[in-house]
Amino acid sequence: MDGYVPANAPLLEADDLTRHFRVGGGSLFGRTARLRAVDGVRFALNRGETLGLVGESGCGKSTAGRLVLGIDTPTSGTVRFEGRPLTDLSVDEWRRLRCDMQMIFQDPFGSLDPRISVASQIREPLDIHGIGSTADRNAQVDDMLDAVGLPRAAKDRFPHELSGGQQQRVVIARALILQPKLIVCDEPVSALDVSVQAQVVNLLSDLQERFNLAYLFISHDLGIVRHICERVAVMYVGQIVELADRPSLFKQPLHPYSQALISAIPIPDPDVTRETMLLQGDPPSPISVPSGCRFHTRCPFAEDTCRTEEPALRDIAPGRTVACHFAERWLS
Ligand code: SF4
Repeated sequence: MDGYVPANAPLLEADDLTRHFRVGGGSLFGRTARLRAVDGVRFALNRGETLGLVGESGCGKSTAGRLVLGIDTPTSGTVRFEGRPLTDLSVDEWRRLRCDMQMIFQDPFGSLDPRISVASQIREPLDIHGIGSTADRNAQVDDMLDAVGLPRAAKDRFPHELSGGQQQRVVIARALILQPKLIVCDEPVSALDVSVQAQVVNLLSDLQERFNLAYLFISHDLGIVRHICERVAVMYVGQIVELADRPSLFKQPLHPYSQALISAIPIPDPDVTRETMLLQGDPPSPISVPSGCRFHTRCPFAEDTCRTEEPALRDIAPGRTVACHFAERWLS
């Protein structure tokens, strides 16, 4: 990209990012309401790093992923890529940025065109951006097939002839062929058989090391996040409630919501037991967000202050930010 880029800028920064939607109001006197899908999210992602974005369905993590890629437009707040706000980019710069930022979705079959061969789908981004000669493009398709562990014989196949795991490898190859710096992975293995999930997660790890990729890894599965992410942001009703490095978060979660999520991760050893912190009820609707702490309607530690005063996301320890009035209680 053109323009000044601070030398030490993170690869990606989301600063006070919000995305609100107006809903309702279909009839003449119908009232509208505001759905706060993303409500003041702030994080940074460095080159070659994996940041997990976790939370229950509907917490806003996928919307946040779409905002940082520019697929959706924030209501307010800023996304910076290599130090430059996305809103400052010219059309040409946007076009170049599209090569640097890619996305992998949950459903590999839905991400692929059933009428187009594997080779053509992987090569398509090069064709669209007019990169390389035909021979170069075909050679890069071969390289990508090797990189994602697919046989070259798969080139002439069509998506329905492949297993779910193979389809996701095609999607990954297509995302990689433009040599991106960032890939937003939105539940990339949750549609796959459990037996295949580990293979694809390991592949993503290997590719990250080989190509120095940064991943924003969106998932509801903390078992997988624990395996691949270096830092983790926990989201609840549109906000980040805890952000920490992986070892600290999994060893000693400081937000009661993180504590509940981590206590629910299955332990593969039948001889090891752990007390599960069961949460009551469902998450509140992002249309009617509770006053004070958004988690107070389900939090077993809620006090009067929690119902009236919204806790700020604050530094509790080096590299750890938590949005709970009493986070220090759990810090040893
Ligand atoms: Fe629970 Fe209160 Fe902390 Fe919110 S601020 S997580 S309600 S203890």
